Parts: sequence; structure tokens; C-alpha cells
Amino acid sequence: MGAITVRSASFFRWSFILVSLCSFAHALAAQTPKPSQSPAGTPSNQRIVIAASQVFDGKGGILQNRRIVIEGSKIVAVEPYSGGPVDYDLRSLTVMPGWIDAHDHITWIFGKDGKNAGMTGTTQDDAYRAASNTWVTLMAGFTTIQSVGAANDVPLRDAIAAGRIPGPRILTAIEPLIGKGEDTGTPDEIRAFIRKQKEAGADLIKIFASKSIRQGGGMTLSFEQLSAACDEAKKQGLRTLVHAYKEAVVAATLAGCTEVEHGTLATDQDLKTMAEKGVYLDPQAALIINNYIEHKDQYIGTPGYTAEGFAAMEKILPLDCDLVRQAAKTKGLKVVFGTDAVAGMHGRNAEEFIDRVNCGVDPMTAMVSANSLGAEAMGLGDQIGSIAPGMQADIIALDGDPVKDITAVRRVVFVMKSGVVYKNVAKSAIPVYAGVKP
Ligand SMILES: [Zn+2]
Repeated sequence: MGAITVRSASFFRWSFILVSLCSFAHALAAQTPKPSQSPAGTPSNQRIVIAASQVFDGKGGILQNRRIVIEGSKIVAVEPYSGGPVDYDLRSLTVMPGWIDAHDHITWIFGKDGKNAGMTGTTQDDAYRAASNTWVTLMAGFTTIQSVGAANDVPLRDAIAAGRIPGPRILTAIEPLIGKGEDTGTPDEIRAFIRKQKEAGADLIKIFASKSIRQGGGMTLSFEQLSAACDEAKKQGLRTLVHAYKEAVVAATLAGCTEVEHGTLATDQDLKTMAEKGVYLDPQAALIINNYIEHKDQYIGTPGYTAEGFAAMEKILPLDCDLVRQAAKTKGLKVVFGTDAVAGMHGRNAEEFIDRVNCGVDPMTAMVSANSLGAEAMGLGDQIGSIAPGMQADIIALDGDPVKDITAVRRVVFVMKSGVVYKNVAKSAIPVYAGVKP
């Protein structure tokens, strides 16, 4: 009997490990960046060689004088360079992995009348505007974004993945779970909603557990509802990003969710708890609120944007900077980079790096948050976010060194995604996209 018990225990343990591995493999397969399959944007299998004098490896390291060799969509070698023929000479620039924006609303646009038109537009004009968002985002150096989300992200994600139009790799939540108290549904109904997103092809799950900060940011899901959502997503092999302020931050952390978005008004103790539980934080230093203020006339009067809401945002702005500073000081807290890009922000995503550094974040930490750490948070740490053999060839180059001058993030002169070069311009002739002055 004793022996059987031991065998059973080990059988169950192995079954559990196998099930876990299967769901992990499934999650990766679902989120694996798909290199282009059609002729447009397909990397050729020829070798491309880049010479660089300064390479950020994406994990905080700096390599000097390297030759980066790319075959197809992947980096195959990073080795010392001491001369010889190259295809792209990026010496005199800072070379690093393409950036990752963990929080984007890529289809969010201003309409023909210039007013906020949200992210659910379906006309031809809306579609072109969304495609333009992807173009300027890629030109700004962002090779992967996570859209959190809208149903019309899906055709855009798939068109880019197939190489039909240029843009960053898109991961999408499709339809978010919006907390509405009891009206959100029972835990079982919430679980069914999560499975529905998975079936529709979601790469992750987005959950609103707090009201907008413009409406006070109160919690909109019970702990039981939140736990059901994050638990079911985990069972489906999907990560959960939770829009949370104040008390919802620690609730999302204890409910087993993956990442907290915004996090405004979290206490120091909440941040410590997040660090202990390994929950990622994606705070915004200033760009999102500054963008609303800059485009106030275009937002005010459209659904969700009132004069009182703007007053609330203006009050919150310095608190967001405090949160980013406090998060950076919290030992072991994994802080990723996400802008919350809405209309007016697309192609200006990198301004948030400048805001973070102005709020007290070390510049290299800010870079890593949008490279290896951002990739790890997406479960893609072995594919994107670093410059090393075997990784996707997502490579950008800046005129200047962002560690010495963070405004160098505005001067992206080279963009390669999955081995395809989308931008390669002279330092003196950087085109202006989305109003970003080099
Ligand atoms: Zn958002």
C-alpha cells in the first residue's frame, strides 16, 4: 500500500507538471510573434550584418564594437567587430532592442471632425486612421505593443502579422471585462466571459477593477469576481492586466492577477506586496494626462470626458509622478513600460520615457522596462526584448545615448522588426511623425 501511495503521489505530481507545461506551451504558441507569411514584409533568408559601436543588450548591459548577424527573422550572432563588410553601419548610434509598449489602444483615434472618436470605429476612414497609428508607432521605435483592447484590434493584428501592412507586433485583449459591481455577473458568468475571449483569439485578458480616475477610481469588482476572472484566465493560459487604482491594486495582487495597470494611489505597502507576489506594475508618469490636457478641446464633451474629469486628472498628475518614483524605489518590484496610448499619443509613446526619467527613474532602468522586462511580463522573454542569438531581430538605433540624454529617444533613425528594415534615415534628416521633433 505504502509503495502505491508513493507512486500515486508522484503520478499526480507529474500529471500536474505536464498539464502546467502544456498550458505554458499553449500560451507561448498563442503569443508567439508570427513572422510575416506573405511576400510583403517577409524577411529574406539572406544574412544581414549590422556593425555597432554601442549596443544595449536589453537587460541593462552595454556591449561595445559588435557585429550583429541576422538570418531571416532572427539574430544568429552577436560578436566582436573589428572591421570587414557590413550591410548597415550603425556605429555612432546607440543600438538596442525594439521597444515594447505594454498598454496601448492602437485603434483609438480622433475622427474627421477632429474630436475623440474612441477605439471602436469601423468605417474605412477609421481603419486608415488606425493603420496610421501602427505606422507612426513603429517609426517611433516600438516593435511590439499590447492593445488592451478592442474587437477591431484583431484584423489589424492579423494584417500586420501577415506582413500586409507595416506596424508593431500586436497582442490584444479583444473585449475587456468591465467591472460593474453585481451587474458584472456571477463568478461563473465571468469565467465564461474569459473563455469567450480566449476562443476569439485574445492574447491576454484586460480587466477593469476600478472606475476611471476621472470618476474617483472606486473599485468595481468584488474580490470574488476578480479572483474568478484571474483564475480562469490562468487556467486558459492567459495573462491578466488589471486597470486598478487605490484598494483595487492590492486586491488584484492577492487575486493572482498578472499585472496592474496605472496603480495610482497605491500605498508603499501595496507596492511591497506586489513585489513579494511577483505582480508586474505598469504605471504612467505623465504622457497620458499631459496628452489629454493638450487635446482638451478634442476630448471634452465626448463620452467620459467632462470638465470635472479634467479637473480630477490635473490633480492626479503629480501623484502619478510620485507613484513612478516610489515604484522605482521598491525593492524587487517589476515595473514595465506602458503608455496607455490614446488618440493624440500614437507615435509619441517614447515621451513617457522622458517623463519617467524626469520623475526620478534611472534611464537604463526605463530602457529595460520596455525591453527584456516588458518581454518577460508578456511571457515572450525568450523571443523579444534582448539582443542575443536566437532572439527575433527587433533592433532600433538612436542618434544619441539615452543614458546621458534621455531626449535621444526622440531620435530613432533605424527600425528593424523580425529582420525587416522599416526605417533607416540619416541623422540630419529624421522625418517628423506625430509631431515628435528630433
Ligand atoms: Zn488604457
